Amino acid sequence: MNNYKLLSAVSTVEIAMASFEVEMELEMPVCSSCNRPIAPYERGIKFYCPNCGESIIWRCPKCRKLVVPYKCVKCGFEGP
Ligand SMILES: [Zn+2]
Ligand SMILES: [Zn+2]
Repeated sequence: MNNYKLLSAVSTVEIAMASFEVEMELEMPVCSSCNRPIAPYERGIKFYCPNCGESIIWRCPKCRKLVVPYKCVKCGFEGP
């Protein structure tokens, strides 16, 4: 039942974020795969682009689990 609680909390946050997208970007990292802000409790991971090593790529737990491809904003490198 914990999962259900977490899911409803996440969608509430998402709705709240829709109107504060710019402000949220300053406070929260954005998943490079789905462009969704990653809340601190979600435990997303970050790493430098394996190709150019310049931009930081964030991935939310969901995209990690589903192995959704990401794209580097700097060099355009795509990969999981
Ligand atoms: Zn994601
Ligand atoms: Zn890159």
